[in-house]
Amino acid sequence: MQAVGVIGAGQMGAGIAQVSAQAGYRVLLADAKREIAERAKEGIARQLNRLVDKEKIDGATRDQALARIEPVGDFAPMASAGLIIEAATEREEVKRAIFEQVGKILGHQAVLASNTSSIPITRLAQATPDPKRFVGVHFFNPVPVMGLIELIRGLATADETVKIVETYATAIGKKVVHANDAPGFIVNRILLPMLNEACFALGEGVASIRDIDTAITMGLNHPMGPLTLADFIGLDTCLEICKVLYSGTGDPKFRPAPLLVKYVEAGWYGRKTGRGFYDYSGDEPVPTR
Ligand code: NAD
Repeated sequence: MQAVGVIGAGQMGAGIAQVSAQAGYRVLLADAKREIAERAKEGIARQLNRLVDKEKIDGATRDQALARIEPVGDFAPMASAGLIIEAATEREEVKRAIFEQVGKILGHQAVLASNTSSIPITRLAQATPDPKRFVGVHFFNPVPVMGLIELIRGLATADETVKIVETYATAIGKKVVHANDAPGFIVNRILLPMLNEACFALGEGVASIRDIDTAITMGLNHPMGPLTLADFIGLDTCLEICKVLYSGTGDPKFRPAPLLVKYVEAGWYGRKTGRGFYDYSGDEPVPTR
């Protein structure tokens, strides 16, 4: 089995590295600095320990999965990977700069995939070494728990590229749905307007954070409220997706809520920074308004 390269070792990249290693792939995990990838591996170790505690896997399986993950300081070792998955920050210029570097090392048969939540695959493909071997592979958070992948072809994506990613998705136990290269694909096209509307509702004083979340969990039977979910996804990521939906469709219904913009400007990105709509510094999340 060929190695999988994962670029970006944040919440998504770490999850992708974990499930790939658990499925038996060797994983080369990179971030802007090797230390970040090393810290991500420590986080994966903690996740795997939890699975051992819950008796979902045994200690030997944990050790084997961890041994397959190698944090790397640059992309050069990924020359041997059959599949490279980019899961870096949701900003087009960041991804374009990464693809330029990947172009120097991508194997002749290898596939490059992006976990972008919303940036058009056909447009991103122009920055990649070979648009035929580029595809969108949209995972869901948390990756080890969520069973879905949206697979998005760009105009130039080859059938063989799609097959390679389908085989990988099956190997890691995920169900694939195919989406066209339209802004937000399927899930975010439908989800983000709801999360953004919750931010509008909060900003306009319709209800408190707690009551908005309780209304949606209990009134619509959702597993978590929209503000909790936005914090979980990352408010920076939510804002970027709204912007892409807005600019990609030209439809004002997707314009970002001013409060969402403010929170991102304040650096309150949600769970990953310890504060978003909730404060995560204590044992239980506490609403901030
Ligand atoms: P994150 O902020 O947790 O992680 C992003 C990582 O990218 C960080 O560790 C950062 O250091 C790294 N990075 C930034 N510049 C880099 C560079 N030049 N080279 C290598 N690494 C670099 O974000 P995330 O939630 O893991 O999101 C990552 C991607 O996954 C985004 O494209 C996002 O839209 C997508 N995504 C997110 C979710 C979600 O729910 N959070 C779901 C599906 C897809």
